[in-house]
Amino acid sequence: MEITSQNFKKNVKTALQNQELQSALKKSRSGFVDKRKIAVHALNEFEMLRKRAATIKNHVLAHLDQYLMQYEESVIQAGGHVHWASTPQQGVKIIQGICLKADAKYVTKGKSMIGEEMDLNHALEEIGMDVVETDLGEYIIQLAEERPSHIIAPAIHKTRNQITDLFFEHHAKHGITEKVEEVSAIVNEARTVLREQFVRADVGITGANFLIADSGSSVLVTNEGNGDLTSALPKVHIITASIEKIIPTYKDLSVFLRLLGRSATGQEMSAYTSIYRGPARSTDMDGPDEYHVVILDNGRSKMLEGEFWEMLRCIRCGACMNHCPVYQSVGGHAYGWVYPGPMGSVWTPLLVGLQNAANLPNACTLNGRCEEVCPMKIPLPRLLRSLRAQLFERGLVDWKSRMGLKIWAFLSQHPLLYRTILKIGAMCLHQMGRRRGSIRNLPFGSAWTASKDFPASTGGSFVSEWNSQKRS
Ligand code: SF4
Repeated sequence: MEITSQNFKKNVKTALQNQELQSALKKSRSGFVDKRKIAVHALNEFEMLRKRAATIKNHVLAHLDQYLMQYEESVIQAGGHVHWASTPQQGVKIIQGICLKADAKYVTKGKSMIGEEMDLNHALEEIGMDVVETDLGEYIIQLAEERPSHIIAPAIHKTRNQITDLFFEHHAKHGITEKVEEVSAIVNEARTVLREQFVRADVGITGANFLIADSGSSVLVTNEGNGDLTSALPKVHIITASIEKIIPTYKDLSVFLRLLGRSATGQEMSAYTSIYRGPARSTDMDGPDEYHVVILDNGRSKMLEGEFWEMLRCIRCGACMNHCPVYQSVGGHAYGWVYPGPMGSVWTPLLVGLQNAANLPNACTLNGRCEEVCPMKIPLPRLLRSLRAQLFERGLVDWKSRMGLKIWAFLSQHPLLYRTILKIGAMCLHQMGRRRGSIRNLPFGSAWTASKDFPASTGGSFVSEWNSQKRS
């Protein structure tokens, strides 16, 4: 998958000019936020659960190797196989191998961000597989040949009209020639088309929200039930997961499930919580003959060693992006890789290299909303600041910003000079905005002021204003 995170500024311009995207973002803006707020307020122990969940994950991350080995043993005992992949390329090779060995032609897929990290659809198509996404949002973007723009609502950037056109264009080969516009009709049409795919699939691939170490179970949370049909009907079931998905026991699972639904969609629980544990037993009425779990590292074990380890607590609820003004204005594609929003601005540079995503840590106002709503108490603003410091240390900041920071560092060590220059600056700003009452295209601040007015200064600095307020 092409990484375009280094083009973030260009991507942003394109996103801001895309009227259909802006209209889709506007419609989705308050939905998740309002629903989460109601769901969280209705649960008195939400704060206690957040603390508990963060403690569990911290413990797991401190003993990650032990829990992963315990999980592997449990899966093997249940008749399944665990495969370890250090890189997305290794993961792809493993999955291609399983599909080829099964002589598969048709593959159904549930939503999996790890599958996106591996660019799995393309990799399977390259070896002749017919791959169909079964999550409605993923199915829509597969038809549009795009990637997800949100980790729980992959097609959130699409308007209803765009989906109508996509279905009309692609469903003729299934004998559907009528244009559908109502949401329920769109959903029914997708159901009709996907039903055929479920039945003919040789291999089903799903993601996993959690892996439970002591039972070897894999837990998948969905709202459509497509995960169950993807996993139970084909003769081979492959689960894609990453190393930090592990939790110790079912008891711990109950903590995470109560946080996940509320934080993601404002639901008390997602509609389906499916638990898989090995291939079908002789007494089972259905289920796969083969059961494989592919666990990807892709730089995560390296993250464990350093200052960004807390990011590994993430349960992919999407709350941080739902509350982020930057994400809400530009959507997910601008971030240029698999993970958008505040969590993506931390994950992406760590996984694809800071030099390939140097703008992302700056795609943030540091308003702190993401940390406030994160169910796993991940200090996203602090992590973003640390990435900014690394950008500076590694010389990945442009010369203007570097020079500005150096001047500021010098001035902050010389308070008298600092105050004098500030005073002159405030007076200049006052003069510049005196007539209009506001300033447009502020020199050195044009990115802020090109599209919105900057209020004219009163002529005093913040400190002088503060002192005069105190005196009055
Ligand atoms: S960083 Fe927090 S809020 Fe964002 S997706 Fe991860 S768990 Fe959810």
